[in-house]
Amino acid sequence: MIKSERSIVGKFGGTSMATSDSIIQSGKIVNSEKMRAVVVSAPGKKNLDDIKVTDSLLRCSQLVNKGEPFEDVFSMVIEKFEDIGRDLEMHNDTIRWLELTHKGIESGFGRDWIASRGENIMARIFSKYIDGFFYDAEDLIILNENRQVNNISYEIIKNKLEKQNIPYVIPGFYGKKFDGSILTFERGGSDITGAIIARGLEADEYQNWTDVDGVRAADPRLIHDAKSIHEMTFREMREMSYRGAGVLMMDAIIPVAEFEIPVIVKNTFNPSNDGTRIVAKRESNTEEIIIGIASRDGFVSIQIGKNGMNSEKGIAGKILECFEENDVSVEHDPTGIDMMSVISHKDQLNGKTDKIINRIKEMVCPDEINVINNIGLVCIVGQNISKKSSFILSKMSSHLLKKGIEISSITYPTEGNSMIIGFNNNNIKEAVIAIYDALIRN
Ligand code: ASP
Repeated sequence: MIKSERSIVGKFGGTSMATSDSIIQSGKIVNSEKMRAVVVSAPGKKNLDDIKVTDSLLRCSQLVNKGEPFEDVFSMVIEKFEDIGRDLEMHNDTIRWLELTHKGIESGFGRDWIASRGENIMARIFSKYIDGFFYDAEDLIILNENRQVNNISYEIIKNKLEKQNIPYVIPGFYGKKFDGSILTFERGGSDITGAIIARGLEADEYQNWTDVDGVRAADPRLIHDAKSIHEMTFREMREMSYRGAGVLMMDAIIPVAEFEIPVIVKNTFNPSNDGTRIVAKRESNTEEIIIGIASRDGFVSIQIGKNGMNSEKGIAGKILECFEENDVSVEHDPTGIDMMSVISHKDQLNGKTDKIINRIKEMVCPDEINVINNIGLVCIVGQNISKKSSFILSKMSSHLLKKGIEISSITYPTEGNSMIIGFNNNNIKEAVIAIYDALIRN
């Protein structure tokens, strides 16, 4: 019997599955935490020059589509799994699973089936290694055409994964459509699988094991000594990951947040570190207003000016409709008396700017429209931001002023978890450093 009363679902990422040593280390963690279910990624990079198994598999699928030989690329997948299989003394099984994959690729199974095999083989290996119980994700997770989980999956998980004395091992990254074909999540999607399994099992905790000591308060490439966040809320995590913090996928928060299942982000290679705890309501650092800063560049601002705009009813709605019609999502829309700026990412606008401008001209007859490229957005994330906005703005501005950095826009909702500040792209790095120094560095 599993001794622990608490039910823990763990997810191990690609670096935790990249070598036999890291797999052995992950196995120790599964045992010591007495996990009820474990989700694994495909083997990731051993070092910076290495290639992820999923990348090789996706390349194989492209080659097959073009009718070109895929054997050379597939041999990288074979090599990686063979090394692992040999070290963990399951060579014959590993070869058999690789052969089945090879046959499947040859016989025309589609892109998603091919991409999912890294996780599938890895889960089989890990399950055998820890004496667990392999359960295929395709028998547990049903996905809609848009790659979103169908709620029926939670019932299936609850019914099929009965309590038992050995952990279930489930491949991450994919599920099955109603027509029976395999569908993957977007890249990095094993985080979502872990969250879905945790919710289906109504787990007490979802542990996400990765290769860093939790979520940092700012991008360590910009602030090398950025603090690790000890505890944060689901909303704060979603804001951070949406604005570029890469540790945990944004979509992985939704299934667990709805059920208030705490997520713990921990480091497989430094398990004694507490990591980051993501919860519905902060319990420890309740006084901390700002939890972190995230940033993203490449935004474009379309500025619409019209005399008397503030009193023209419905004009903002009409302007935003022009973006919606073109399937472009709007990041934020700071407004003045006679001016409204609509900010979107350049990847969203992707050649549609002129079309949107022409439509705005037709819809609202503006006096002027200007396009400003090269905008970077910095997002300050925390709780009660609007109640402390004067304090935040004065501290932040004095640091930015010292560096001669101008702010191009600021928005924050009255009761929100974030404040978004626009800068010229070229200043974004310096702006993050100044804001971190002003608001987070002690
Ligand atoms: N193996 C997949 C990827 O590389 C999914 C994952 O690791 O979460 O994107």
